[in-house]
Amino acid sequence: MSPQGNAPFIVGKPLRPLDAADGSAVPTRATQPASADVVIMGAGVIGLSVAWRLAAAGLAVAVFERGEAGCGASLAATGMLAAATELEPGGADLLALALESQRLWPRFRDELEGEAGFDIDYRAEGTLTVALGRDEVDRLRFRHELQARHRLATRWLDGAAARALEPALRPSVAAGIFCAEDHQVDPRRLVPALRRAAVARGARILEHLSVQALDIAGGRIGGVVTDQGLCRAPTVVIATGAWAGNRDVLGDALAVPVRPLKGQALALRATVRTGVPAHVVWTEQVHLAPKADERLLVGATVEECGFDPAVTAGAVFALLDGARRALPSIEDMEIEAVWTGFRPTSDDDAPILGTTGIAGLVLATGHHRNGILLAPASAQAIHDLVTAGDMTGAATRFGLERFASINPRPEERSHAAQHQW
Ligand SMILES: Cc1cc2nc3c(=O)[nH]c(=O)nc-3n(C[C@H](O)[C@H](O)[C@H](O)COP(=O)(O)OP(=O)(O)OC[C@H]3O[C@@H](n4cnc5c(N)ncnc54)[C@H](O)[C@@H]3O)c2cc1C
Repeated sequence: MSPQGNAPFIVGKPLRPLDAADGSAVPTRATQPASADVVIMGAGVIGLSVAWRLAAAGLAVAVFERGEAGCGASLAATGMLAAATELEPGGADLLALALESQRLWPRFRDELEGEAGFDIDYRAEGTLTVALGRDEVDRLRFRHELQARHRLATRWLDGAAARALEPALRPSVAAGIFCAEDHQVDPRRLVPALRRAAVARGARILEHLSVQALDIAGGRIGGVVTDQGLCRAPTVVIATGAWAGNRDVLGDALAVPVRPLKGQALALRATVRTGVPAHVVWTEQVHLAPKADERLLVGATVEECGFDPAVTAGAVFALLDGARRALPSIEDMEIEAVWTGFRPTSDDDAPILGTTGIAGLVLATGHHRNGILLAPASAQAIHDLVTAGDMTGAATRFGLERFASINPRPEERSHAAQHQW
């Protein structure tokens, strides 16, 4: 497992949140507290959202992040909140969680922007998925029929209607689906907003401080171990994204079926002449997400290659080719950044939320392509679990127990205490 494996790149430099300094300063490491009510491992969008919610509930929260907040998948994301557009066959449970989170998003946004003091570029124009030629129409229609079977209020458009919605699209566009509820945010604003809001609520974000091991005794979590020693906590939340299955940290205590799924993406800078689309646009090859600062994000490859951080020529070529096939005007846009990120992907592509066989040890990981979308519902679920002892709603279908064949192991099960909060 590469220690640099979590670094997305701006042509070689780490991707940074929009409010960050230039990165030349030597990172400072805080001194960890001796104890906390809740320790959260990982300051991605999931760990930070959970931290914010739990700190707001009055708990003493310490977040351990081995790099800087967001440096894993979260700052690499495009920021789409695409419950309908992302629907796949067999995805009914995930759709329920996604729709629940989508409904939570406007209030989550309002509270977050209020507490952070700046906006996160939440845009509610909706998402347009297009067939770029006649040969793609049947597959697009299949998608629309699937959405209709799930009673999603998405709209079928013929080519002329799709082009009327996005006039800059190539004239060959033959059909489209408009998902009016699939919105977006800017992760480079979201991450610093969550960080600031969590800190304002009293959470301690300890960056450049890696969790090296879990402290487990008698089937119960006692805290986490770093190079500063033990931080005691009766509750520990593993929100380490694609690194959640890291054996070096988990030891033999737990098997978490999460692996990295590499994604490369890039940012183009539009000019007055080129303009940007008004909506998020999906094609079979790429998605295009316009941001308030005239950037157009183009994403994303899906690659099974472990923690390989390389930005490759093939990926850049495929992204640019896919973008140009939809939107010829990208030819005149400047390439601003290219980066990689590692989606935390479980064996069934769905998140893992809730208890483990070790009392007090909680999982909030495996969010795959949808961690930004699912952040409000995931944070709510873990908040409910930690403060009230139980999760409610769609999150209850995403426990670790669905991977019972690998976890917990029989010899550990006998030691596992009942879940107590
Ligand atoms: C190219 C790309 C595009 C995407 N687009 C979208 C999108 O449009 N919409 C959407 O909803 N989702 C999208 N995703 C998915 C989304 O980014 C992830 O699901 C989400 O960011 C996961 O958040 P996380 O907090 O679980 O993980 P991460 O953001 O990876 O955070 C985990 C953190 O844990 C830290 N960590 C790991 N090990 C340790 C340790 N031992 N001690 C301390 N800290 C540790 C890491 O440094 C990291 O910062 C995209 C992903 C990629 C790669």
